[in-house]
Amino acid sequence: MHTKRETPIELSKEEFKKVGYQLIDNISEFLETIDKRPVTKGETPKHLQELLGTARLPENGTSAEELMASTTQLLLDHSLFNGHPKFLGYITSSAAPVGILADLLASSLNQNVGAQILSPIATEIEKQTVKWLAEFIGVSSEYSGILVSGGNMANFTGFLAGRTAKAPKNIKEEGMFGSDKLKIYCSKTTHTWVEKAAILFGLGSKSVRWIATTEKNKMDNKILEKTIEEDLIAGYKPIMIIGTAGDVSTGVVDHLDGIAELCKKHDLWFHVDGAYGVPAAVIPDLKPIFNGLQEADSIALDPHKWLYSPLEAGCTLVKNPQHLIDTFSSHPEYYNFGKDEVGSATNFYEYGLQNSRGFRALKVWLVLQQIGRSGYEKMIQQDIHLSELFYELANKNRELEAVTQNLSITTLRYIPLELDIPIEPLYLNTLNEALLDELQKGGEVFLSNAIVHDKYCLRACIVNFRTSEKDIEEIITIITREGKKMHHKLKNI
Ligand SMILES: *Cc1c(COP(=O)(O)O)cnc(C)c1O
Repeated sequence: MHTKRETPIELSKEEFKKVGYQLIDNISEFLETIDKRPVTKGETPKHLQELLGTARLPENGTSAEELMASTTQLLLDHSLFNGHPKFLGYITSSAAPVGILADLLASSLNQNVGAQILSPIATEIEKQTVKWLAEFIGVSSEYSGILVSGGNMANFTGFLAGRTAKAPKNIKEEGMFGSDKLKIYCSKTTHTWVEKAAILFGLGSKSVRWIATTEKNKMDNKILEKTIEEDLIAGYKPIMIIGTAGDVSTGVVDHLDGIAELCKKHDLWFHVDGAYGVPAAVIPDLKPIFNGLQEADSIALDPHKWLYSPLEAGCTLVKNPQHLIDTFSSHPEYYNFGKDEVGSATNFYEYGLQNSRGFRALKVWLVLQQIGRSGYEKMIQQDIHLSELFYELANKNRELEAVTQNLSITTLRYIPLELDIPIEPLYLNTLNEALLDELQKGGEVFLSNAIVHDKYCLRACIVNFRTSEKDIEEIITIITREGKKMHHKLKNI
């Protein structure tokens, strides 16, 4: 009888070490030289498809050593690097190196953090991580919750808990059929997840009341209140208000305390989308702009954004976690979970949408400890300072218009010197859009866009611990140089 099975999948200890050490060598070299590489090569999908070729599924295997070496090279040669100091697009951060190693460790153990009995210490680590995240953003220790894949899922989880809590009780059994009267409220700047949630979870996109914003891009709470009152008179059933803490385009935080008051007055669920911005509440000077956060029934935040965790890590915090259980728990006969000490086991499958779940908490837990609250406070503050510097430099530059600056997001646009006064607004939009495309393909810097009061802007979001003042100065030079080129190209000068 064989005592050890021979399989093509197993690696001997020696092989594992050889392939693994080589990988770690390559990754550490990559991290050391990331700033010397282009942010992206801007290659076309067609080019990349040609690179992979059209070979069919391999019949026989290849050695792990060979595969890992060639794949590392493939990825390093053809990826966009979020970790590059001049990557300031969207809201994707540089990944903490400890988080990279944490993912390796987590995969090695391959815990299924759906049930405590399957993931004894991992479940406790996730619980502690969630507690620490609540403490980090300064809400009370009552809050608990679950880690999910990202902001969309974190918002969905809170949204569903709110729907369970505030919609008529029979929707759990009868479904949404016939309850087309539910209404939810959020500002026009709210991220696309709201529409997706309304569609996916049966309320329909018309259930969303998109509330106009003030001059400063905050939800207009007066219009909000008026809309709710009108809806009540018309026989609708308002269930939830969503406040944004750091909107995705310009980083603005809604007047959360005003929203909290309205929620109390009308018995509505108060959800805060803090996917990007809420970690800034760790900075004492910024605490006041987050007033009201501590009243939220649910909060979404994204460790894979401003907490620099590698993708994927989002988190839903709920003031009374029983709402999650009420929404997501089920007890099939084939689960022998949580019988021993009643109430002591936490089975995360009962807190969210997923059943089998990975150990994403490990990277967040480790990075929180490696850096500590004060380390984060410093880094987040520096990101904000760099964003302010970007705005100031743009403001001083005759070819740039600084448009907005909130948290760590700056928006600006290129305005050619030779342009006739009064300036041509539509042309400026065309020019800046073309400029952004060119910059994104060029690989020197990666920015994204925002439309602010009908102006097409370049947008920089700094959630990047590698970005320095020098990078910001160089980016200003790149934008003006490429802006001028693009203007000349468009005007045939
Ligand atoms: C990024 C973001 C989301 C979506 O988060 P993902 O992690 O991309 O799913 C939702 N809301 C806001 C405010 C965001 O910034």
